[in-house]
Amino acid sequence: MSHQLCIVLDFGGQYTQLIARRVRESGVYCEVLSYKTSVEKIKKLNPAGIILTGGPSSVYDNDSPKINKEILELGIPILGICYGYQLIIHTLGGKVSPAPTKEYGKVLTSYDTNSMLFSGLNENNLSWMSHNDYVVEIPEGFTAIASTELCAYAAVENTSKSLFGTQFHPEVNNTVEGFKILHNFLYKACKFTGDWSMANYASTAINNIREKVGDGKVLLALSGGVDSSVAAALLAKAIGNQLTCIYVDHGFMRKNESDEIKKAFADWDINLISVDAREQFMAKMKGVSDPETKRKIIGEEFIRVFEQEAKKIGKVDFLAQGTIYPDVIESGEGDAVVVKSHHNVGGLPDYVDFKEIIEPLRMLFKDEVRRLGTELGLTDVLVWRQPFPGPGLAIRVIGEVTEEKLDILRDADYIFREEIARAGLDRQVNQYFAVITNMRSVGVENNARTYDYTLGLRGVTTTDFMTADFAKIPYEILEIVSTRITDEVKGINRIVYDITAKPPSTIEWE
Ligand code: GLN
Repeated sequence: MSHQLCIVLDFGGQYTQLIARRVRESGVYCEVLSYKTSVEKIKKLNPAGIILTGGPSSVYDNDSPKINKEILELGIPILGICYGYQLIIHTLGGKVSPAPTKEYGKVLTSYDTNSMLFSGLNENNLSWMSHNDYVVEIPEGFTAIASTELCAYAAVENTSKSLFGTQFHPEVNNTVEGFKILHNFLYKACKFTGDWSMANYASTAINNIREKVGDGKVLLALSGGVDSSVAAALLAKAIGNQLTCIYVDHGFMRKNESDEIKKAFADWDINLISVDAREQFMAKMKGVSDPETKRKIIGEEFIRVFEQEAKKIGKVDFLAQGTIYPDVIESGEGDAVVVKSHHNVGGLPDYVDFKEIIEPLRMLFKDEVRRLGTELGLTDVLVWRQPFPGPGLAIRVIGEVTEEKLDILRDADYIFREEIARAGLDRQVNQYFAVITNMRSVGVENNARTYDYTLGLRGVTTTDFMTADFAKIPYEILEIVSTRITDEVKGINRIVYDITAKPPSTIEWE
């Protein structure tokens, strides 16, 4: 691909992916590589800028991650952040020591706005700190360009070598003008032109796919999730009906969802095979109430159905998957590539006869995948679809899955989602859904006793789904939801709202 490159060298910091996303949001393409990447490889990739991330270690420890000095001498502008900054100083002969007082959190910082890095900023502003060590002596050629009460060298530069370092984290929102700082580094120091956009990406990716696939056949398991839908759209634009998508309806989709997915792709020039396997899956669920067993049975059955359908097509040349960048990023510490196969079709490759895998979203972050989807003309329903577990509603029915409980859940969940959207909260609350418990309790309706199910409502806010808070949905909205569900859905006489964070809870109940 023909865009300029920024390399983010990962030293194991918790904000590595955030740095990469910020760089891309600035219109610059970047890739995360391990700190172990060789000078030769870096030279070959020919980046116009390099960012060294933070990390948990201390640079003066013998076994902490180091950087080859040659990388600092390539003449490529480099920004070191926190550990990355300390490492530049340590490597070039300065001194890093344990700080007498740790700084953690927002700290008032004075910036030298004559420096390229801070040009256009306010002279005093908050920055986000998180460190135990600090720089006490800077090597020759460096000057201090920012300070805090505890840190004389909160940021430094060496203009002749184009090296910059910040003790604080410009990538996090709590550094008030952090985005500007990164922007200055990228556009003023590295002189990037800003050639990374989704429109560009789409046209290059389409050409690449055409070149690679030729007149071959491609098979994709369409789950209806964001990633597989966008992958399908991209492939459809590139190779039209050389693409076959298999959509397995296991019967645990939300209300109207199977129709929505089929409708979304109805006008596209692809072969969409939709398999109605609802009865088959339901039969397997009989008498099963253990969550892990449910998940396992559904996963295995999915592969079986897919395999049957794939056999009918015969040999395909490529199996396409919606793998995205966070699934493939190398970690700073390990040598192995971390691949989380968390999409519903993990395990498929073993069961399909194909030559090669293609993963056209492999270099994209989730928000970029969404933008690409919109760019390609997918509806918001698909592009902004919430994460939905592979086993679907089967794990939102606590205990044994029955048609009765599924029907109740579908209707209740639909009302909840409808009201959240109506209140304009659908992009603020990152995931929200209903769960039908296995518990019944006593209620009263029209002067008569009822004995019905309890419904759980869950709403969370999160940026990465690794941790989450319960969403503070206003009581007025919850009240509307509760009244509507008890009025409109038979079989529910009690509704509770889940107020636990993850951890100690998980987002899904099973
Ligand atoms: N471990 C180093 C310190 O404590 C760097 C921390 C960081 O990169 N956030 O100072």
